[in-house]
Amino acid sequence: MPFLTSAEAMLLTDKVDLQRFWSGSPGTYSRPKDRGPVPGVPVGSLFSKRKALHEARVHRPLQAGICGTARDGAESIVVSGGYTDDEDFGDWMIYTGQGGRDPEAGVQIRDQELTLGNAALVTSYVFGLSVRVIRGSAGDPNYSPTTGFRYDGLFEVEYFWSEAGRDGFRVWRYQLRRIPESDASFDLSFPPVQVIPAGPAHPDGNQAPDRRTTVTQRVVRSTPVAEWVKNAHSYKCQVCRELLTTPRGPYAEAAHIQPLGKPHSGPDTVDNILCLCANHHVLFDAGALWVTHDLMVVNHHGQKLGPLHTQDKHHVDLERLSYHRAKIAKRA
Ligand SMILES: [Zn+2]
Repeated sequence: MPFLTSAEAMLLTDKVDLQRFWSGSPGTYSRPKDRGPVPGVPVGSLFSKRKALHEARVHRPLQAGICGTARDGAESIVVSGGYTDDEDFGDWMIYTGQGGRDPEAGVQIRDQELTLGNAALVTSYVFGLSVRVIRGSAGDPNYSPTTGFRYDGLFEVEYFWSEAGRDGFRVWRYQLRRIPESDASFDLSFPPVQVIPAGPAHPDGNQAPDRRTTVTQRVVRSTPVAEWVKNAHSYKCQVCRELLTTPRGPYAEAAHIQPLGKPHSGPDTVDNILCLCANHHVLFDAGALWVTHDLMVVNHHGQKLGPLHTQDKHHVDLERLSYHRAKIAKRA
């Protein structure tokens, strides 16, 4: 079961019903009246049961955990411990999509699809739409009300992906973070797509990435590592500082310094990766650019282009840069 990042999951959209909704620009949709804060319902409001949430229009469906459509995005979700894969951290959470579950046994019995509420949350991600979050008493006891349901404000979908859930079937996972301004009457309908903030800890990566021989040797990349590096630099190129934006969010490439493929066999770890724009990635891989031991970027004419832009949390291995100079750029 492949791990899919948001970007890779977007490539699945031609298989589901979403493409036509996403092909228009965000501005073509008006703000549905049911999105955002509900007038007269402050953050922290308590509700005895689902019916009360329904009547207050805080979460309209009586059973579904996600309210929304692929076209309009998700209005609201209820986090109530129904899925063993949910993880609650208070101001942010990993929320598991809907479907594939045996209602009696409470376990996954088949893969979740990127349809219905799951697709709605993807639309929320794509267009940066806020989602009302309601916690139920069956959720994580650290953050959930002791009885009934509580409206906990507006969250945004920062990231989504698929993975194998605890029961072995594919689940869709959404990282949601509380929008601090969500108490105010703040128009969150169509803000620009947010760059995902990178946490202080980086993923371990893989010292010996799997190399599968097909016709050409293709390296199976550890995508969370690449994503972490891109996030650490807010998707800005470390050479030119360019930020490429697309309707689906920022775009950058993870450039391995010591290449992964044979004979180089570099590691797929964050200290062997630079965040580059597409142009500088090509030049770097071609040896037309290299980085000196004191982190100066030099082109193949020997001209200094300026310092490599760095981030404290992203350590670059100088040995890998030395390898790149010697073996790829053929410089001493
Ligand atoms: Zn660049």
